[in-house]
Amino acid sequence: MSDAASDVVTEALEELRQRLQGLDEGAVADYIPQLAQADPDCFGLALVSMDGHRYRAGRCDTEFTLQSVTKPFVLALALAELGPEAVDRRVGTEPSGEAFNAISLDPATGRPANPMINAGAIAVTALVPAADPARRFARILECLGRFAGRPLAVDEAVYRSEAETGDRNRALAYLMRGTGALAGDPAEAVETYFRQCAVLATVDDLAVMAATLANGGVNPVTGAVVVPEPVAVRVLALMATCGMYDAAGDWMVRVGLPAKSGVSGGLVAAGPARFGIAVHSPPLDAVGNPVRGVAALRELSGRFGLHLMHNP
Ligand code: GLN
Repeated sequence: MSDAASDVVTEALEELRQRLQGLDEGAVADYIPQLAQADPDCFGLALVSMDGHRYRAGRCDTEFTLQSVTKPFVLALALAELGPEAVDRRVGTEPSGEAFNAISLDPATGRPANPMINAGAIAVTALVPAADPARRFARILECLGRFAGRPLAVDEAVYRSEAETGDRNRALAYLMRGTGALAGDPAEAVETYFRQCAVLATVDDLAVMAATLANGGVNPVTGAVVVPEPVAVRVLALMATCGMYDAAGDWMVRVGLPAKSGVSGGLVAAGPARFGIAVHSPPLDAVGNPVRGVAALRELSGRFGLHLMHNP
């Protein structure tokens, strides 16, 4: 990107940060105390281009737990290890039109609708090949670190709280063992999933992670091949159709980019072969998507013609 173009990007991010800082809607997740204590004013935006350039505005080096934003990246790991058929046998590829924690499994196949809702993500996490749960999580953490371009850590207090309050996810795991969607022990599967939700990263990290998917699985900052290109394409397709929960349709119409949100206020979006972008702002809308993140992406998409269906 030329210097002039990079100035435009930085200015746009900074202008959005200033204006959307005043957007005072939504509520911070409060199902565990650590998330309830999040600063509702914390707001950062970062963009990484395919040549590894970083653009940012606001609080981009504050760590937060990634929660559901980990789902596409762990899906990428499972797909890279096992191939699409093995993953498809356990988890569908259809938007659910339901909440992220819905208790819904396909009556005919017993599979969760897609890997972006909790049920599907738990089934995917359990598929990651490893000799035991500790090594499975170590592989997941290592892979998330390769996406980010630096080693990541777990917030142990958030992990413990997730585990203490996670009965709904536990129930989903047991239901899925009953239907055959879940490989292995349900208790171990959810423990690994809770740890995965508690992985810490910054907006800067997340933008690199999204850019790696946009760049066909190659981290544009480190140059590492994190996952094969067909895996990145498949993950982006599932983010486009299922990444924003039951608002996925509205998101595709109004923003038009593959994306994934999380309950701690993180949001990633990818412009294939162009950029990765990340926003963090804790207040969530009724669906569970971050209010400022959604507003920022709507504006950026409109202003710069980022919608995938847009004819430049
Ligand atoms: N830890 C959360 C859960 O499993 C993650 C969900 C989310 O970020 N939407 O309920």
